[in-house]
This record gives sequence, C-alpha cells and structure tokens, in this order.
Amino acid sequence: MVMSPEPISNALKGINKSSHIIYLSPQGKTLDQKKAKQLSRKKEMTLICGRYEGIDQRIINNYVDEEISIGDYVLSGGEIAGCVLIDCIARNIKDVLGNEESLEKDSLSNGRLKGHLYTRPDKFMKYEVPKVLMSGDHKKIEEWRIGNSLWVTKQKRPDLFQDLQLSEKEMILLRQYEAGIANQETKDD
Ligand code: SAM
Repeated sequence: MVMSPEPISNALKGINKSSHIIYLSPQGKTLDQKKAKQLSRKKEMTLICGRYEGIDQRIINNYVDEEISIGDYVLSGGEIAGCVLIDCIARNIKDVLGNEESLEKDSLSNGRLKGHLYTRPDKFMKYEVPKVLMSGDHKKIEEWRIGNSLWVTKQKRPDLFQDLQLSEKEMILLRQYEAGIANQETKDD
C-alpha cells in the first residue's frame, strides 16, 4: 500500500512557502553530524513521515527538498526517524544545551570519538579512575584526553581514524597513550 498524494499535498498547503521539506526515507542520504549542524540553521522545517510502502513519488518530485535516512535499515514508519532528526538538530541550536562547549567536544563533531568518560568515585569496587585524571595537572589531563580520544577512534571507528589529519603533537600523544595503555585501564586491574 502506497500513501496517496492528495492528503499529503493538502497538508502541505498549510505550511510556510520557505519551510524546508524533508521526507524521512531509507532511500535518503544518511544522516550525520555535519547534516544535523547544517539543518540547525534552517528557520523552519516540515517532516514527512511515511508508512506502509512509503509515499507517492510525485510528492517527492514536486514538494520534497531532500530525503534523509537515519541508517541502512528499514523502519515501519518515519515517525521515529523524525524524532531522531529533531533531537540531533535541536542540540545544535544555540542555547538548547546548557553547555555549548559539550557540543564541540562531543563525538563526531571533529571527526573523532570523544573517548572514555569517568566521574566520582575515583575507586569503584576494585576499579580506579586513571591516575593522571586525578593529578590536578590540567595540561597532562588534556594530553591524556587527546591520546585517549584518538586511540578510541582508532579502535572503534578505523574508517574515521584513517580520514583524520593528525598534527605531529597529536601523533606523539597517541603513541604515548598506546605505550601506556597496558598500565592504564585493563579490565582486571
Ligand atoms: N518501501 C520503502 C522502501 O523500500 O524504500 C520502505 C517503506 S518503510 C516500511 C515505511 C516508512 O518508514 C518510509 O516511508 C519512511 O518514511 C520510514 N523509514 C523506514 N526506514 C527509514 C530509515 N532508515 N530512515 C528514515 N525513514 C525510514
């Protein structure tokens, strides 16, 4: 069953002409952080969520500005995909997050993963927070974070890692991190 064009075009009559119209579809371009940031600059957006086999192609050809997929799998409907899109766009809009800095430091905002996160207590069961993070030495902590972030990206997302253009300093910090890894955070420490 394909969703017929008339009800959708009638619904679209009520929106602003300038609204950017997105059809959530597994056939669209896969959503990523760059796209979310770009869409966060739009003044208004209209999301079309399909069901069943999807919507009539004439709506796509004549009304839709772009098709976006949230991943290479098929959902039963576009509503959840729409919610995913709204959430990741909203985080990029000024004043939505309490701390703007977290946006810049989040995974994928600069092509790498953020890395390991710790909070109190510094000893949980027999597992300790890496010592350097408790040292109070901000320069060393920042260097550890850079090395850890690069190492985590290399382990979990080699596809992202190979596209990174590392500075000499970053390469040194990664090598230092790799050299110390056995002592820092093994499961059975
Ligand atoms: N017959 C369609 C096809 O093969 O391309 C799939 C239709 S799907 C069962 C029903 C609706 O779910 C789609 O119209 C779309 O709105 C939504 N949908 C499914 N997978 C999606 C995805 N990966 N990203 C975004 N929307 C998706």
